[in-house]
Amino acid sequence: MITERVKIEEAKEPDLNKLEKGARILREGGLVAFPTETVYGLGANALDEQAAKKIYAAKGRPSDNPLIAHIADFHQVDTLVKEIPKEGRRLMEAFWPGPLTLIFDKSEIVPYGTTGGLDTVAVRMPRDPIARALIRLAGVPVAAPSANVSGRPSPTTADHVWQDMNGKIDMIIDGGPVGIGVESTIIDVSGDEPMILRPGAVTQEMASEVLGRKIGLDPAITGTGPVRGDMRPKAPGMKYRHYAPKASLTLVEGQMEDVIWAINQLAKEKLGQGFVTGIICTDETRDRYSQGIVRSIGSRKWEESIAHNLYGVLREFDDLNADYIFSESFSRENLGQAIMNRMVKAAGYHMIKAEDMRKGIEK
Ligand code: AMP
Ligand code: MG
Repeated sequence: MITERVKIEEAKEPDLNKLEKGARILREGGLVAFPTETVYGLGANALDEQAAKKIYAAKGRPSDNPLIAHIADFHQVDTLVKEIPKEGRRLMEAFWPGPLTLIFDKSEIVPYGTTGGLDTVAVRMPRDPIARALIRLAGVPVAAPSANVSGRPSPTTADHVWQDMNGKIDMIIDGGPVGIGVESTIIDVSGDEPMILRPGAVTQEMASEVLGRKIGLDPAITGTGPVRGDMRPKAPGMKYRHYAPKASLTLVEGQMEDVIWAINQLAKEKLGQGFVTGIICTDETRDRYSQGIVRSIGSRKWEESIAHNLYGVLREFDDLNADYIFSESFSRENLGQAIMNRMVKAAGYHMIKAEDMRKGIEK
């Protein structure tokens, strides 16, 4: 398949003529990758089971991992869901359009091929002007998981999408780098209590403030290990290893001085053994590392920068064929909850306490 690449220059008022072809492809059951404010999505008509199947094939995604339906206008949600619970409506009004996905009981028209066999449906109204214009032109809700090959870091530029999807999909709409850089927050409002299934840029604090009470986190997020096959995760995606770089990634936790010392030790050891070795640090600590491939992921004073660069840095280490990556870890406050959720998964839960290592060596 030839993948057409379309560049949209003016993001605030996208060129509708250019988007019209993408919208037609979506209506006719094809696949179009497009930018959203979180990450690039791989879109298909959410009401067309055959089109949804093509998404799973292009990504190599397990078919029980459901898709998020993206809409452009509030009234579209009514057709997709059985009912909108009161707290769901308050969250919609506060954060749509934006990086929040809500889980509702699904209506009849949503095929099980889109929901991975579930009786619930995930819905989001993105804020990105290109995404909204495309969905509106298509005239159908657009199922769109992240536009990466399953298991790879999510794409935050059109080049990332190109690397993973060239030849597999009909079109890539290039709207430049995305803003946020991590996937949407997912809140399940289909049960008795709203529950965060995936942290994102709409933080636990922000959502709790709107509802006037603290929203809980699914145990799979706070847990320290992967969801086992016999556990039934609420967001089926949780049970798969996500966001994985090709290299072995280790997160080093602790006091900054210990962390810097430990990472330098670990990197030196792997370099000595002849491995391609990378270090993920921050602007504040960049000068403290001198060996291996050192990349700053952003500034600790501005956690948005860390979310924004996270997947790009992981992909860069893939391109450099890194064998080992050692990374500083980050606060789990606010947006840090989403950042650390992705980092810990990318590391396959492989974490080291710098202090323990230091004690071990000094003994
Ligand atoms: P992605 O778009 O690739 O970032 O993944 C979409 C995420 O939404 C996955 O983790 C899914 O498991 C989750 N999701 C989609 N639909 C539902 C649903 N009906 N119930 C729970 N989680 C869902
Ligand atoms: Mg994904």
